[in-house]
Amino acid sequence: MTTDNAAPATSGLASVEAEIVRACRDARCERSSVTLVAVSKTFDTDAIAPVIAAGQQVFGENRVQEAQRKWPELMAAHPGIALHLIGPLQSNKAKDAVGLFDAIHSVDRPSICAALAKEIASQNRRPDLFVQINTGEEPQKAGVAPSDADAFIAACRDTYGLTISGLMCIPPADDAPAPHFALTAKIAKRNGLTQLSMGMSADFAIAIALGATHVRVGSAIFGTR
Ligand SMILES: *Cc1c(COP(=O)(O)O)cnc(C)c1O
Repeated sequence: MTTDNAAPATSGLASVEAEIVRACRDARCERSSVTLVAVSKTFDTDAIAPVIAAGQQVFGENRVQEAQRKWPELMAAHPGIALHLIGPLQSNKAKDAVGLFDAIHSVDRPSICAALAKEIASQNRRPDLFVQINTGEEPQKAGVAPSDADAFIAACRDTYGLTISGLMCIPPADDAPAPHFALTAKIAKRNGLTQLSMGMSADFAIAIALGATHVRVGSAIFGTR
């Protein structure tokens, strides 16, 4: 990746921002109720720097190791950046993840809950935690089955002492996303959770209409991967 990508990245950011503003107006929600997580996975610091310079402060990565390679230097140079882990987490990476990320969107099994609880206590850091729901019940996809969600969320709280902020979903690629977003919102509501991480480049406006508080947008900002 070269600095030739600077212009597309910042014009991508501007058009995503304009579409978020429009979607918020249509949904009669405040712009401030939706956090844009700029998904910078696979892009290097030359591509990320102009997006930071344009004012974006919240970024998402899907791999702990890639984030460790790219972000400590950028974060030292730009205080105020928040980094979100949006991809699957392995228990043996929980220590690094709690140390680096301000939010983790992929809590989906007891072993991760145990590892996170231990690291949150020992590092005295409290990343925002989202439980990932596998709304399409796809066997290859991470996340808790919708029918197991209430019990899992209760176990996060009662067994592991975790504070869960909200839910995350990734609809199946070939499905209309709206029913998946609506199901995620419904599960959140009945569990008293207010944060909804849903919507990507192709469907973030639909997600905002259905209550998203965090949209995870990569290619519409940075270009195709
Ligand atoms: C890559 C990724 C995104 C961003 O996808 P785009 O289609 O590039 O916007 C969002 N969420 C997750 C979990 C991802 O892995």
